[in-house]
Amino acid sequence: MNYPIHKDADGRWVHTWVRQSSIKTSDMCLERWRNDIFGLVSERIKDASTLGTVCHTVAEDALNVVIDDPECVMPLESIADAFDYYWEEAVPTIEVWNNYTPASAAVAGLEKLTNWHDEVYLQVKPKLVEHTFDVPLIDNDERLVRMTGTVDLVEENRLWDWKFPGRDYTRERWQYERWDVQSIAYCYAMGIPNFSYAVMHPDGVGRMDLERGQQHFDWLREKVSALCRLLETQTGPYPLGDNGWWCSEKWCENFARCKGATQGGA
Ligand code: SF4
Repeated sequence: MNYPIHKDADGRWVHTWVRQSSIKTSDMCLERWRNDIFGLVSERIKDASTLGTVCHTVAEDALNVVIDDPECVMPLESIADAFDYYWEEAVPTIEVWNNYTPASAAVAGLEKLTNWHDEVYLQVKPKLVEHTFDVPLIDNDERLVRMTGTVDLVEENRLWDWKFPGRDYTRERWQYERWDVQSIAYCYAMGIPNFSYAVMHPDGVGRMDLERGQQHFDWLREKVSALCRLLETQTGPYPLGDNGWWCSEKWCENFARCKGATQGGA
């Protein structure tokens, strides 16, 4: 079991669980969030997320070539070779095939990286790649909360995140504008107000640019403070958020012993 909170010598709560992904999980289902941050159920390795990880690794290698020598870029053939190498290594580790076969995932991955190369890689000016931050978010008499995360790419005045999904969700930009946690968390942590998603979907590349400032950061603190108070005062189980796609055998590792264990799970 993980211990996401403890008390320091002064009696303040110290929270070590805060990542943008954990905040997003709490928006969907508080009980799933509790299971995740305490490590009560282990996540099985899935095809789509592994494909995304492999694509990220190749992108990281390609961007590091530019950081090492701004006059150089990794040619598309080398990107394809790197993908084949990492994908071959990853296939035996995958436990759940939901969306692909090994062969169809290889085709999709190469297409996504080709689009990333043509429409993103050649345009950006990398300063830092896969940059991990660990910053204080709340520091008062009651609690110390640190937030961690990893930014795919840092430019002089813009942060980037790569997505390699099975569909184009850039049409949902208005939702990202209103409540996207990742862009707010990363802009706060890095002190850079501009954030872009590059979405390599099956039909090409979509881009969403977001600008984040003090009001967003204040709201992030409010959201996280409420979650901290819940953790400090309630042992669980927490309220069950089953009203969405995430509450299913496919997406929640807790499903079999939660909603799936009742008639309501049908
Ligand atoms: S099965 Fe549904 S309600 Fe239960 S933890 Fe998972 S998402 Fe939440």
